Amino acid sequence: MCFLCGYRIFNGTIDEVIKKVMDANDKVHIVSGNPEVLYNGLYNRFIYDNFTSKNSVIIPDGIGVVKPLRLKGHNIQKIAGIDLFMELLSNLNEKDSVYFLGASNDVLNMFIKNVQKKYKNINIAGYHHGYIDIYNCDYIINDIKSKQPTIIFVAMGAPKQEIFITKYMNELPCKIFMGVGGSFDVISE
Ligand code: UDP
Repeated sequence: MCFLCGYRIFNGTIDEVIKKVMDANDKVHIVSGNPEVLYNGLYNRFIYDNFTSKNSVIIPDGIGVVKPLRLKGHNIQKIAGIDLFMELLSNLNEKDSVYFLGASNDVLNMFIKNVQKKYKNINIAGYHHGYIDIYNCDYIINDIKSKQPTIIFVAMGAPKQEIFITKYMNELPCKIFMGVGGSFDVISE
């Protein structure tokens, strides 16, 4: 483990982070720790407290985080959020089900088609576009609760996705939460 701006940053391989989050007994928030995401936390106590809690695992997502840690003497490798996202989809257990929240309707529909093609046995519990008011979205919270997914990926950009996860993590039934930025767009192509 190493620290940057008060954040504990995961220092290990992509396989090690997958094992850590899949084996966790408690809920986990995987934070794609790129400079923008971490900077947002420094100016928002609500997000900062979540990022620094025992439930958050911050991956070193980008050279802006890796470089200063290397200068401090850590032998750390970048883990891109989208790579971890796709590896997680490949490593789901039979009992896992996934909810995808984010992007526009068109992108989301193409993304879902591509995911079903690429990950044949995936159990998709539900999905919804990300153009929502995260402070007034009971219908989505109720939809997620009723579908009981074990994992939710939120693609609404930073800091909206991190605020959503921080706000609803306790009440939602999911075990793993991850903000994935523009990843639905990339996989929809
Ligand atoms: N988005 C969304 N709701 C919003 C704003 C953005 O679902 O209110 C989606 C947008 O359509 C895109 C993703 O969030 O799919 C964010 O992409 P961006 O490239 O900005 O994120 P980054 O990877 O830079 O964090």
